[in-house]
Amino acid sequence: MSYCVNCGVELHATCSACPLCGTKVLNPAQPVDRESPAPFPGRRGDVGPAQKGDLMILISIILAVTAGVCGLLNLLIFRGTSWSLYVIGGCALLWVFFLPVFLGRISPYVSLLLDGAGIAMYFGIIAWLHPGHGWYLRIAFPLTVLATGLILLFAVCVRQIHASILSRAALVLGEIAVFTVAVELLLDLFFRAALSITWSAIVLTCCVIIDAALITIIRRAGLREEVRRRMHI
Ligand SMILES: [Zn+2]
Repeated sequence: MSYCVNCGVELHATCSACPLCGTKVLNPAQPVDRESPAPFPGRRGDVGPAQKGDLMILISIILAVTAGVCGLLNLLIFRGTSWSLYVIGGCALLWVFFLPVFLGRISPYVSLLLDGAGIAMYFGIIAWLHPGHGWYLRIAFPLTVLATGLILLFAVCVRQIHASILSRAALVLGEIAVFTVAVELLLDLFFRAALSITWSAIVLTCCVIIDAALITIIRRAGLREEVRRRMHI
């Protein structure tokens, strides 16, 4: 039996150097056994990344089991309300969110559309569990459709037009303004059955001012280059 003279670790008879610190083994009483196979590989191996198919199966099973177990608990033990539908809907939504990871080649536009449909579905489950107010069709659904459309528009600008960072910022601000106004108008219609713009006008004004400045900078080559140089964009 040999021991490393540097770190003291016990060494296998086939070791010609300490596997921990690399110190050469010198034991006149026991020469290195070069015939027997080493108990561990001599070279470090690399484990390849997980296959997408395996990842898909793993995540799908975790989500399916979570949904199934919660459904059974709801049916058999914790009865009274249909609380498990929140969990089942959440699992389905997560599965839709993971689809681009699973499929890889799925179009980002299709993926965004599916995400929007999944969120609309989840709101639909909540509305089904709490019926009678009409908030789903009058607030949640239109806002989900609008948000999905605005995100799709942004994705088109980034991927198809290759818009600059300044142009993207201008577009995002414009979209925030549109969405904020839409939220106030839909809430007004829902609660008061009358249209009026108050608090969203403040957001709208700020966005318009900043957008005007951004568009001016984008249009004027000198200003644009100055901003790019100073902000490293
Ligand atoms: Zn050692």
